[in-house]
Amino acid sequence: MSTSLVISEIYQSVQGEAAYAGWPCTFVRLTGCPLRCRWCDTVYGFKGGNTMEFAAIKEQIRAFGIPLVEMTGGEPLAQTESVAFMKELVDEGYKVMIETSGSESVENLAPEIHIIMDLKCPGSGMEARNHYANLQWLKPTDEIKFVIADRDDYEWARNLVRMEQLDTRFNVLFSTAFGLLMPQKLVEWILEDRMMRVRLNLQQHKYIWKPTAKGV
Ligand code: SF4
Repeated sequence: MSTSLVISEIYQSVQGEAAYAGWPCTFVRLTGCPLRCRWCDTVYGFKGGNTMEFAAIKEQIRAFGIPLVEMTGGEPLAQTESVAFMKELVDEGYKVMIETSGSESVENLAPEIHIIMDLKCPGSGMEARNHYANLQWLKPTDEIKFVIADRDDYEWARNLVRMEQLDTRFNVLFSTAFGLLMPQKLVEWILEDRMMRVRLNLQQHKYIWKPTAKGV
């Protein structure tokens, strides 16, 4: 198997969302994604990038000296070599997280990896790409994220959470599609429906920096 990955960018910042929000983190953004969400904010990561050997990627990660590493994209699992690479990071003592679209299997990920998996709502245009079999591979500590663009998305997410009891099995995040749905509205709906085990998830980096800023 190849020991290289196509990398869009590697940078340090603070984690912008989910359980590790606020923690210093090194981000490894892999190039490419098979999906095309209507509200995608990383279109620049679909193409280009540099092919880098595992060793060279790790050298850059090491240089930042941050114990938390997030693999993101694009879709990190679209490059199958990423599974072996993340295992190497785990073995070297890093806390590794992955942000995945939920369209690729997470079955082979090392159990130490913290998974944040999207379930794509209808408004993304990618609902048909949800790989629901992944629900059997997630751990109770992992997170399922719904990015919600409107009321239809909200009701779809709410109904799925209730039907599958996702909020008793995993950590469930309700996030707004930035610029499409105001967080206040989402909070109102969560409270009205007494969704007491879902967590509002805002992308801190879009409030700290310009929403379109790269490398943050
Ligand atoms: S899965 Fe993520 S990177 Fe891919 S199109 Fe959707 S938002 Fe963009």
